[in-house]
Amino acid sequence: AKVGYRETICFYDAEIGAAVRKRRQLAEALRYALEHDELEVHYQVQMSLAAGEIHGYEALLRWTHPQFGPIPPSDFIPLAEENGLISSLGAWVLRRACMDAAEWESGYRVAVNVSAVQFMDSNLPRLVHEVLVETGLAPHRLELELTETALVKDKSRSLHVMRQIKALGVAMALDDFGSGYSSLETLRTFPFDKIKLDKAFVDGIQEDRQSMAIVRAVLALGKSLEIPVLAEGIETGDQMSILRAEGCDEGQGYLLGRPMPIGDLARHGRSTRAD
Ligand code: C2E
Ligand code: CA
Ligand code: CA
Ligand code: CA
Repeated sequence: AKVGYRETICFYDAEIGAAVRKRRQLAEALRYALEHDELEVHYQVQMSLAAGEIHGYEALLRWTHPQFGPIPPSDFIPLAEENGLISSLGAWVLRRACMDAAEWESGYRVAVNVSAVQFMDSNLPRLVHEVLVETGLAPHRLELELTETALVKDKSRSLHVMRQIKALGVAMALDDFGSGYSSLETLRTFPFDKIKLDKAFVDGIQEDRQSMAIVRAVLALGKSLEIPVLAEGIETGDQMSILRAEGCDEGQGYLLGRPMPIGDLARHGRSTRAD
């Protein structure tokens, strides 16, 4: 039997209603999780490709909902951005990551992601300063990862915020490089300390000439601008050898280490935390 117009409308209404309810429920749960310490930060190693030395760890948020199970950051970060929760979420991650890093005797650096909304909703320089003072982490051991979407809306303001953060001695990395619309313009305008080459190009490095050509061009760009390049999402030994041969400075990916809880870092001998 054919579904009539009215039934179709009702059907969609019900579906949309359910989706909206689910989102609202999830947003509530996220707020609860934040207040009740149900969130966790995992750490993924970043290494120099030439020497194979650990440089630092990227902090990545993890949330396990009591009923729905693990919810990926790609789902709950946008949710937090929509409902204004991102600032407290971002502050929480920053504090947690700096507290953890302050205990690594090795002096490894910690890289923390900053969302576009969090970056624009400034007070960020003041928050970063407060957290560094609170945790006693040396500023040069903190790096903030930012995508270009965070910067394009209001360039002069973004530049101002970025300069304030850099003045604290904190480094800035340009995340997902190459995936946006104006990557070159972003590099020209903003004083980044590192380029994180998007995983998409690393994925294609063996399969298509285009990816390889772009990787080479980005590495050359990094060299002439004197900005180190980190390749994201390295999964195979072949990708790793190619990147190393091409002179890529740093790498990150499942091949080198998955994101893991802080306790496991110590167990893997990757950190010389006191405990
Ligand atoms: P991102 O900043 O580009 O982080 C890299 C993502 O790639 C992470 O996913 C990481 O687990 C994953 N990854 C690393 N190596 C590999 C690999 O070899 N293969 C594959 N397939 N994936 C790899 P994750 O943790 O799911 O995070 C996704 C995105 O969510 C992040 O992308 C970032 O944009 C956002 N995010 C995560 N944590 C935070 C946070 O604390 N604050 C903010 N604002 N955003 C966050
Ligand atoms: Ca990142
Ligand atoms: Ca990235
Ligand atoms: Ca990404």
